[in-house]
Amino acid sequence: MPIDSGAAPITPHKAFPQAIRHMAPEALLNAEERERIRAKSALFDPPAARLEDGRRELVGMRREEIAAEMLAIGEKPFRAKQLWHWIYHQGVTDFAAMNTIANPLQAKLAEQFVIGRPGVTTEQTSSDGTRKWLFNFRDQQQVETVYIPDHDRGALCISTQVGCTLSCTFCHTGTQKLVRNLSVAEIVGQFMAARDSYGEWPTPKGEEGRRLSNIVVMGMGEPLYNYENIAAALTIIMDHEGIALSRRRITLSTSGVVPMMDLCGQELGVNLAVSLHATNDALRNEIVPLNRKYPIAELLAACRRYPGASNARRITFEYVMLRGVNDSIAEAHELVRLLADIPAKVNLIPFNPWPGSPYKTSTPEAVRAFAEVLNDAGYSSPIRRPRGRDILAACGQLKTATERAKRA
Ligand code: SAH
Ligand code: SF4
Repeated sequence: MPIDSGAAPITPHKAFPQAIRHMAPEALLNAEERERIRAKSALFDPPAARLEDGRRELVGMRREEIAAEMLAIGEKPFRAKQLWHWIYHQGVTDFAAMNTIANPLQAKLAEQFVIGRPGVTTEQTSSDGTRKWLFNFRDQQQVETVYIPDHDRGALCISTQVGCTLSCTFCHTGTQKLVRNLSVAEIVGQFMAARDSYGEWPTPKGEEGRRLSNIVVMGMGEPLYNYENIAAALTIIMDHEGIALSRRRITLSTSGVVPMMDLCGQELGVNLAVSLHATNDALRNEIVPLNRKYPIAELLAACRRYPGASNARRITFEYVMLRGVNDSIAEAHELVRLLADIPAKVNLIPFNPWPGSPYKTSTPEAVRAFAEVLNDAGYSSPIRRPRGRDILAACGQLKTATERAKRA
């Protein structure tokens, strides 16, 4: 390839805008890398939040966007605050139920907008109370969402993508190609539809005693490869005048997209979970292929600088226990060494099999012995009880039948 292609040379100014040029080399690298990730993510954008009849989806819009929509139809921007209350606090989907808004305006709003929910294709409840929904969206793409009850509370495990680009070898979702990212409305919609299912509207006062008390972003997909949408969705969910779930009750799990981890900590401040699963690069390269890009040392460095990580707010390291692969005592000791200066807890997840999966679950003795090493070193290391296995709702078992639409 000729060196001089004849194209105008890229000026340093264009290549590195002012703000970026003054950053530390590491941050600079990350800033460039983030741009690359965002550009790639945009290739998998969801379809526009608009119905065939032209009505627009209000769910998923930021407050300012709703205010701008109101102005555009000749209404006062304060209507946005009222709508926000009805949509996210009261949970209504029908403008006619909004009794602080006069009938003519209700009708006008209904002509222009909708307050949607994902469609429910199936809803199954496991013998242990775990509930799983197969949601479908306007373009017929589908994802699964799981509610895991725990006495008077419970966590909703939400999905962020249809499929996943990363092919972790133990994960069912990883066998499904990435079809597309979910939109803000589709992410928030999973939570709202689950709340519909439990009748938990209006938003309960305070955070105690809620059935849907926590969110784990651990469903299908890699959330940090759909950062813009998950960030906007969580911002809506955390808003005090709506669903009002605090960031302390939200945990985002990543397989280790290092450049986006800093941003997630700075902008969202939610709890972080990291899918580690191996204590050396050779094995992690194999089972979590993203490790070839962001190896263990870089990943742990990003954990060390994760804003807000402290002994009170530890980073969760997820470790799926694969029989004879990563479950030896030596590896448990190595894990202790790796996590030495990180406020951490370890979640040991017995491998959940799926049709055709290539691994076996570690024996209960192996899991116990592994946990003991961690406990002796002072790490809380709960063994995650598999939930909802009978309905394929446990970690790593989610997969939908839809395939990637043929791309032009
Ligand atoms: N993509 C993100 C979030 C979704 S996966 C991530 O990988 O972190 C949620 C968790 O389930 C991850 O820790 C994942 O490694 C784990 N997991 C995947 N397949 C599993 C399986 N078959 N059994 C147990 N855990 C699994
Ligand atoms: Fe994707 Fe997470 Fe599954 Fe890996 S474990 S394939 S990152 S969903």
